[in-house]
Amino acid sequence: MNAIAGKVVAITGASSGIGEASARVLAAAGARVVIGARRTDRLERLAETIAAAGGEVRLCPLDVTSQVEVAAFAAFAQESFGRLDVMVNNAGVMPLSPLAALRVADWDQMIDVNIKGVLYGIAAALPIMQAQGEGQIVNVSSIGGHHVSPTAAVYCATKFAVRAISDGLRQETDHIRVTVISPGTTTSELADSIGDATAREAMKAWRAITISPEAVAASILHAIGQPADVDVSEIVVRPTASPH
Ligand code: NDP
Repeated sequence: MNAIAGKVVAITGASSGIGEASARVLAAAGARVVIGARRTDRLERLAETIAAAGGEVRLCPLDVTSQVEVAAFAAFAQESFGRLDVMVNNAGVMPLSPLAALRVADWDQMIDVNIKGVLYGIAAALPIMQAQGEGQIVNVSSIGGHHVSPTAAVYCATKFAVRAISDGLRQETDHIRVTVISPGTTTSELADSIGDATAREAMKAWRAITISPEAVAASILHAIGQPADVDVSEIVVRPTASPH
């Protein structure tokens, strides 16, 4: 048995990009994965692919802006496989815009998904992991959690928050591992939701060089695969050729 095999890993935002790649990579390494997102047709296709490759997978419809749904997602993972070893709080949105555009609904959505969704994930997983006496929370932040850039003030604020919350959680527990994954530009659907024309144009140059979501998934795999007394508290993984 390697350190991944048999682990029960719940992944939010698993219908595309980094979450989807993580589900594939972790299942291929022997983890039992529980995948959640709103687009259940995508989850069904992913589950079929994973199962066809011999992996163990369950899917659950999930909107991380609902605390009730996130709690039900963690409970579903525990009921399906008897425990919950890792919660990957990956779901995120990035509708960038200059603050002066006053796209307040976009600010609300980023706060609801990127911050409150992560907090709900922690609230759902922590009691289960405390009862088990072990577990791991993996929160996906960003290089935007390290540096702010124009049009990204609110997005970066949410990703700074993810790092702050994660570090606080890490300090408050001595038996639950806490990992932050901070990717640089990664091929995914993340920029598709940018409604503001200025930000959309700026992002074309910013996102010209990307790494694959599988590269980020490999970092998550690495962090989970460490021995229980080793906490990889943060990995920043970015394209070699990118200045960002
Ligand atoms: P994608 O847009 O491809 O994936 C985002 C995922 O989040 C989707 O599966 C989407 O599923 C899910 N999601 C969005 N809103 C909700 C919601 N309310 N409830 C549940 N799931 C939701 O982008 P990425 O894979 O790139 O993004 C994954 C994470 O990586 C995000 O946190 C992002 O901020 C972070 N990141 C990405 C980078 C990049 O360059 N791609 C760089 C740094 C960080 P659905 O719509 O089906 O619900």
